[in-house]
Amino acid sequence: MAGEPQDDCLFCKIVAKQVPATIVRETDTTVAFRDINPQAPTHVLVIPKAHHRDAAALAAAAPDLAADVLRETQAVADEEKLESYRVVFNTGAGAGQTVWHAHAHVLGGRGLEWPPG
Ligand code: 5GP
Ligand code: ZN
Repeated sequence: MAGEPQDDCLFCKIVAKQVPATIVRETDTTVAFRDINPQAPTHVLVIPKAHHRDAAALAAAAPDLAADVLRETQAVADEEKLESYRVVFNTGAGAGQTVWHAHAHVLGGRGLEWPPG
């Protein structure tokens, strides 16, 4: 069910501290941790603690929680002292989504080309 922890979900396991991660911020509703395969000097993932398969499902089912995630992307950028940064929600396998628990990538610390690849 949407929102419930999923046994086979890596990010639910990170929320439950069953899988280790370098956590940079945690709130009642969100966790932010460093990506294991960083694509920029700062590459942090912000996730809702509740399981939703992607950003669109999260926004539809729990808009306040979606707002929490967005607010946390700014908090991460502030902590990491990023003047400019990019927030990415890969949505669907064709866009590179590999983990089916909504997550915002916060990328910064280098020049970011536009449009992205
Ligand atoms: P996606 O490709 O779904 O948009 O993003 C998933 C991200 O999760 C990838 O950037 C990948 O490097 C990261 N990732 C995958 N497994 C782990 C893990 O075990 N720990 C951490 N910290 N990041 C992970
Ligand atoms: Zn999950």
